[in-house]
Amino acid sequence: MKTSPATKASTARLGVSQCLLGDRVRYDAASKAHAVVLGELAERFELIAICPEVEAGLGIPRPAVQLSGDIEQPRLTGRDQPELDISERMASYTTEKLPTLAGLDGYVFKSRSPSCGLNSSPVFIAGRCVTETSRGVFARAVCQQYPALPVIEDSELDSPTRLASFIDAVHAHHRS
Ligand code: SF4
Repeated sequence: MKTSPATKASTARLGVSQCLLGDRVRYDAASKAHAVVLGELAERFELIAICPEVEAGLGIPRPAVQLSGDIEQPRLTGRDQPELDISERMASYTTEKLPTLAGLDGYVFKSRSPSCGLNSSPVFIAGRCVTETSRGVFARAVCQQYPALPVIEDSELDSPTRLASFIDAVHAHHRS
């Protein structure tokens, strides 16, 4: 289920990359609906849909972006339009968004995304992929602001052990 952050205060709440809920918010207007998110997690938790790129004012569809220039402090630039740089725009959005996430008990991120990837985002330097284990700019900011928040990315949800451990951690966070 997808509800306002202001409702159902007694239920643990998860931030979720919105494309995982089946909403067509990706750069190419596609979705990445995930059965575990829509099934097991939706049955247990209140899901708060967040698409940082759309909320930052980028449209649907929009130019694809990628992490570039530096592994530790990458910029967010156009995949096919290198002159496009939305780093400042995303940073400004993130600064305003982060305080609103204080009531979350966990977060499910979309893997490989330059905004939402947790441990799987590629970084490009001079047109060459130099790592595929970096973190999207929004996911990085969330994890820095809320280091105790249980987080997972969709590629891990099909592991029963990892999923169970995440669910336990969300419940524990909600009780604390
Ligand atoms: S990965 Fe993140 S930024 Fe990209 S469409 Fe999904 S929610 Fe939006």
